[in-house]
This record gives sequence, C-alpha cells and structure tokens, in this order.
Amino acid sequence: MTLDDARAAYERLRAAHLSTVRASMEDHVERLDWPRERIERYQTERLRSLLAFARARSPFHAARLADVEPTTATVADLARIPPMVKQEAQDRWDEIVTVPDIDRAGAERVLADQRWFSYTPSDLQVFSSGGSSGVRGVYVWGWEQFVTLACLAWRWQARAERRSETEPGPARLAVLEAGEPPHASTPLFDVATEAGMQTVVIPAAAPFEQVLHAVARAQPTHLVGYASVIGRLARAASAGDLTIRPVRVSTNSEPLSDEDRDAIAEAWGAPVHNLWGSTEIGVQAVGCGEGDGLHICEDEVILERVDADGRPVGPDEPATRTLATGLAGRAFPFIRYDLGDEVAILSGRCACGSAMRRVADIAGRRDDDFRYGDCMVPASAFRYVLGTDPRISEYQVRQTENGADVLVVGSPDVPSVVAALVSSVRPFGLDHAEITVGVVDRIARHASTGKLRRFIPLAG
Ligand SMILES: [Zn+2]
Repeated sequence: MTLDDARAAYERLRAAHLSTVRASMEDHVERLDWPRERIERYQTERLRSLLAFARARSPFHAARLADVEPTTATVADLARIPPMVKQEAQDRWDEIVTVPDIDRAGAERVLADQRWFSYTPSDLQVFSSGGSSGVRGVYVWGWEQFVTLACLAWRWQARAERRSETEPGPARLAVLEAGEPPHASTPLFDVATEAGMQTVVIPAAAPFEQVLHAVARAQPTHLVGYASVIGRLARAASAGDLTIRPVRVSTNSEPLSDEDRDAIAEAWGAPVHNLWGSTEIGVQAVGCGEGDGLHICEDEVILERVDADGRPVGPDEPATRTLATGLAGRAFPFIRYDLGDEVAILSGRCACGSAMRRVADIAGRRDDDFRYGDCMVPASAFRYVLGTDPRISEYQVRQTENGADVLVVGSPDVPSVVAALVSSVRPFGLDHAEITVGVVDRIARHASTGKLRRFIPLAG
C-alpha cells in the first residue's frame, strides 16, 4: 500500500470516529457542571465496571485484584491493589491486554508495517512512545476509549466557546504535535470539535523557521501543541515575527512553564487550556481557561497521591508519587499506574463553577532536577535565568560533573547569562558551578515525538 492509500484508508474510518467524538461531546460538556455527588456516583460505577472487566479478561489484573470485590468496590479499596510501574506494564504486556486478537508481537507488527496511522481489524489504534523514563512503551487504544479521550482533551474548550458571547466565525485549528506515527498526540489533538472547523497539522519537530512559516500561512484561530513550541511562537509574535490572532490556545505534552504562559498572554491574550496527559491514561487533567490549575477528569480517571509505599495521603500532605486509574481504558487496563509526576491538589471551587477538583500546574518531572552529590538543584534554578531572557528563544541544559553545559538559540549576552546561572544555582549548595553557554542555530528535538528535552541529567 502506498503512503497516500494508507492515509486515505485511515481517514475514511477516522471520519466515522470523529463524528462519534462530536456526538459524545454534548454529554461530556454537561458532565463538567455535574454536582459532586453525581461525579462520585458515576466514577464509582465506572471503577466497578473496569475492575470486574479487568479481573475477567486480564490474567495480570486477576492476580492483583484477588482481594477486591469489584461489584461493591469503592475508590478507597484501590489502596489494597499494588501500584503498577512502566517496566512491568511493558514486560507483562500479553498478560495485561484484554483484546483476544492482539498481543505484543502483533502490536509491534502493526507499528513496523503501517505506513501511516491505522486501525486494526478490531478498531484498535496502536501507539508507541519513549517518554522521559527511557522505557519504550507500546499502547493500544480501543474505539470507545479514543472517543472518551478526545472528549476529555477538548470538552473544556467546547464549554468555554459555547459560553462566550462572541459569534463563532470560521475556525481553523493549527495542530503542533508529532505529526506522524507512532506517537498518539496527533490523532488525539487533530480534532475538529465543531462541524466546519478546519485543522492543519504542522509537525512540531521541524526546524522552527519552517514551523513559523507554516503557522503564518495557516492563519489559525485556534492553536494546540507542545507547550514549548507554542511558547516560542508567542515570543516570535511579540517580537513582530509572526502575525496571527488565535482566540484560544491549548498546550500539552510538556510542562507549561510560567515564562511560556506569560509569553502567550502577552502575545495574544487568549485563554490557555493546559493539558496533563500520558499515552497510558490518555488525559489526566485539563485547564478550563478561567481558574488556576487543571481540572482532574474525575469521571474518567482516578488519581491517588501516595507516599513512597503506595499508601494514599491526604490532600494537604506531601506525596511522592501519583497513581492513575484510567476508567476508559479497557483494551489494556492501567489500574494504579505510577505516572512519575507529583501533583498538588488545589482547594476550593474554581471560578468556572465546575465541581471537578483541580491539581496545580504540573511543574515537571522529578528527573528534571539535577543531583550533585548531596545537593539537588531544581530545574527551576536554570529555567529562572534561561526562560526569562528575551534574547533566548530555546534552550537545553545538560548536566556535567560540577555544573552544566547549556545550549541556547538566540543572541544573549553569554558572559552575563553564565554569571546569572552560577549565582542562581549557588543557593542550592552548588558553589563555584562550572557552566558553559553555547549559542546554536537549533536544538535537536526528539526525532519521532518532536519533544524538546530541556534538562538532561548525568547518566547514572
Ligand atoms: Zn475551572
């Protein structure tokens, strides 16, 4: 099959899928204004359904769920199930998957043979991602699961647009994601939420000049994409290098830094919907564009903040890990899956009126921090200097024995950046840090995902 044929075959089935997404959106938008009791009642029944299904269809989960009675289980009972980690999920793939006609070898064949994104004969989509943990993951999403995840990714934006006073005109969404298989980001975010909305996919891993020109040509009314790419576009707009007027911006796949959020506000003043997701769970939480933080998708995801032993902690207590249970994921159930991110719960009702609880903005993964002997230097110590210099548009920090080698794109005053970095890391115990700053034309992004790895710790 040629690439064009593969794309055409995929798009025919995907058109059916996207119509289902738009139909389901009505229900999903309403859920955002459900009262607490209704959210919890729904969540509990969805959990019981997932546990019963996983126990019946997955040998891996059957063993883990031996002490739990699915028909009467509540969220509190999850604490009796051991956490699930990435390596284990990938090593025991064939015991976890619940779909009879696919196994790990079959999923690998789909990835190796497909010319473009594709559906299996049983309407699964197979994705893969490396992730910052370094463990390659292979994932399957079922038909209904994708419908739910796409609604989770887009329902806050749909609700905000329906509430807004302005008459909707022709809408065009620029999608700045991986742009190609095997990463799930393009199918998940290249979604026209209203009939008549156009979408334009612009691969985020392309050289920035190309991305900039493609976005200028597209003249999007809506933007969705990697947080660092949208932040850089916003800085280009403020510098006069890009003239577009997006009315709504959605960011994902990377932590949204304060400096990128500020740059978007300054350039366009558009509401920002930040999304926290993973290929395993899909979408964990999304910002409503009004209040602080991100609303947890509580109807479809259960998040548990736990201590080092996997025991749940109270909302005000510090947690070391976040475990997620994806209620929509039946093909390959993730139950108490360790996401590797730390989250803080925000108290109080959001200004938007939704009773869905919120987490604070995700600051980034723990492995963004650099350890030097006994001292730990947080990524923010570097970000504070590099992310706020208007003459730096992109950067990458590679840890060294006694400091860091930094690559920057732009035209900064190198000696003063070095001095600022040395004094920024000193309070964390790193005296006399050895820091170099090199100016480069571009920083390589991950070849298939397009993500920029801003912080690279010393191996080991
Ligand atoms: Zn809100």
